[in-house]
Amino acid sequence: MIEVAGLQKRFGDNTVLRSIDLRVARGEVVALIGPSGSGKSTLLRCLNLLVVPDGGTVRMGERRFDFGGGDALPGTGALAKFRATTGMVFQQFNLFPHRTALQNVMEGPLTVRRMAKPQAEALARELLDKVGLSDKAEQYPSRLSGGQKQRVAIARALAMQPEMMLFDEATSALDPELVGEVLGVMQSLAAEGMTMVIVTHEIAFAREVADRVVFLRDGVIVEDGPARQVIDTPRQDATRAFLSHFH
Ligand code: ADP
Ligand code: MG
Repeated sequence: MIEVAGLQKRFGDNTVLRSIDLRVARGEVVALIGPSGSGKSTLLRCLNLLVVPDGGTVRMGERRFDFGGGDALPGTGALAKFRATTGMVFQQFNLFPHRTALQNVMEGPLTVRRMAKPQAEALARELLDKVGLSDKAEQYPSRLSGGQKQRVAIARALAMQPEMMLFDEATSALDPELVGEVLGVMQSLAAEGMTMVIVTHEIAFAREVADRVVFLRDGVIVEDGPARQVIDTPRQDATRAFLSHFH
């Protein structure tokens, strides 16, 4: 599905990603874990070119981008088109406050996919139903709980019919009692075969739902393997030390 090789990213003289190689197969669920500042968000954003790498290649199907080899950088049009193939869900929900849940989900289909209004509305209602919010379609975000807002954000991302979903600490800003409802939606997406890369501190969830766990530290992939193996019997001391904070 997606493959990055030799990926590098610097911010000024701060090298954040150092030659990252990562492949995610179609239908695979990969959990990306690691300490704060290790480069998880930057790597996730490089996967859909929301952050433009300084070196390496990013390939998704037939589309391939090379960075740092002296080639011209892809234009904004090409970048936007590539980004549209992935859905991204952030810690902050970023819903439009003056639009209802339904209108938030319809926005992408109407403006980007140029769908007719009745079709966009039907799709949005179907997706709100899928995330368990068919009864909240007419509510404004201010009237929704954090967990409900995040589920609207997931429905909104799905409305673009992405080939892959990227989650960046989607449950980190939620009250503990609301985390489960969002993880539940993510788990059902995984079960439907959606390709997903999930940055998370929910280690039990990663163990249960992910096929693979990738441990990142200081911009380097230290360990990459089957979820249960990495979490239950990590091979690297650094992975073990990091995981020891969670139990
Ligand atoms: P994580 O998500 O694992 O906490 P990040 O990818 O957010 O890590 O950050 C990795 C490093 O990159 C940090 O040192 C952070 O300060 C730096 N960084 C991230 N984004 C930017 C940016 N837009 N400008 C400058 N530095 C950044
Ligand atoms: Mg982050």
